[in-house]
Parts: sequence; structure tokens; C-alpha cells
Amino acid sequence: MKIIKMPKLPIWECAECTWSVELEYPPVKCPRCKKPWQTFSGKLKKTGEKKWKCMVCGYIHTGEAPPATCPKCRASYEEFTEIK
Ligand SMILES: [Zn+2]
Ligand SMILES: [Zn+2]
Repeated sequence: MKIIKMPKLPIWECAECTWSVELEYPPVKCPRCKKPWQTFSGKLKKTGEKKWKCMVCGYIHTGEAPPATCPKCRASYEEFTEIK
């Protein structure tokens, strides 16, 4: 038997109040606005997303790697530091 790797758990977000939770299934109802689970929309958690900060101008880039050049101040990717 093949072992199928489970995908990353999705994030469920309430369309009413934007409350979100990381679960395999949406909650029965929103704990915040009491809307039923149908209000929730699931989205897959993005993987490999990191935040990079330009040390020159403070621009924040989100992605797997820093941009080649900062779109704001044209600094090279070497000026970017990962924010954790
Ligand atoms: Zn809600
Ligand atoms: Zn910059």
C-alpha cells in the first residue's frame, strides 16, 4: 500500500468577520459571528513563503527568495534580510 502524504492543512476563513482557523475541516460555526460553516472558505496554506526586508528602505517582500532588486530603492537582493 502506498502511503499518501497529506497535503498541508488549509486555512478556513469566515467570509463574515474574517476570523480564520487552521483546520482540516471548517468549524461547525464561527466562534466570533456565529455564522455556520458554509460561510467559511478554505484556502491552502502557502508554503515556502518568507518575508524579506530591504535594509536600505525598509520595503517588505514576500516570497521564497528576495527580489533581484528592490522595487522601491533599487538596492540589490544582498540588501535583503529574512524576517522571522
Ligand atoms: Zn465569523
Ligand atoms: Zn529598498
